[in-house]
Amino acid sequence: MSHNQRDMLQRFSFDNTDIRGEIALLDSAYREVIKRHSYPQLIARELGELMAATALLSANLKFPGRLTLQVRMPGNVSLLQAETNDKGQLRAIARYDELAGDEQLSFADGQMVITIEPEQGQRYQGITAVSGGNIAQALEDYFEQSEQLGSRFWLFCNGQQAAGMMLQKMPAMATDDADAWDRIGHLASTAREDEILGLPADDMLHRLFHEEQARIYPASELSFFCTCSKDRIANALHQLGYEELDTMLQEQAGKIDITCEFCQQNYTFDRPQVDAIFPERKLH
Ligand SMILES: [Zn+2]
Repeated sequence: MSHNQRDMLQRFSFDNTDIRGEIALLDSAYREVIKRHSYPQLIARELGELMAATALLSANLKFPGRLTLQVRMPGNVSLLQAETNDKGQLRAIARYDELAGDEQLSFADGQMVITIEPEQGQRYQGITAVSGGNIAQALEDYFEQSEQLGSRFWLFCNGQQAAGMMLQKMPAMATDDADAWDRIGHLASTAREDEILGLPADDMLHRLFHEEQARIYPASELSFFCTCSKDRIANALHQLGYEELDTMLQEQAGKIDITCEFCQQNYTFDRPQVDAIFPERKLH
């Protein structure tokens, strides 16, 4: 990992307690997302916070697969979505009414949807209301309701960088230090945005928890990566059916243009390439 690598996930724990934590720092991984879109500032910042939250949850992926965090809302901003995989590769997108402006981004009546898709095995989905009015509160509610895990989340974004911190109280561990959860949570709450976005993770942890016996584990890398490919687009086109694509080719001067909504990569299919998506047609 290079010295100025700031896209990273740092896990830590506290000796003689049942508390573990993580810090996620997103620098270029976040900017790679926003530079591909012209999101209004408020949306870009909330998307950064959601990416940081997703990065924190990526540590839960102990198997090859994907984790998606969505916030669905009834207003002009209808969707914020961030995805990660077990390699810490992230991408994100916002859907909103470009003509309406972003003043009305409201989490009221919103839902947070967490989807975990292992490459092998069963898909899992959990839904919780965004009742507290922000993403961090929704995550705390989610872990309380569905996992019975006491959790606290702090999310930050300044439009150029994003960061998140999580504390989690592990279940079924006896400890003499009954006060630790409140005490360490209080220390974490003193984190300021300019600090967590400016300091290396271990300096930040020292600044917050130097009075505690914090144990720091090896960091893992986070990065921007889009999983789109010509093959995946071809699979999606296949589902539309040949007739539909044939019509599109006729209407669009013999070319179907598809732009990945995450990374803006453009994919073009001409008639021979569309034919190649339907090898079964040659049998007739
Ligand atoms: Zn893409």
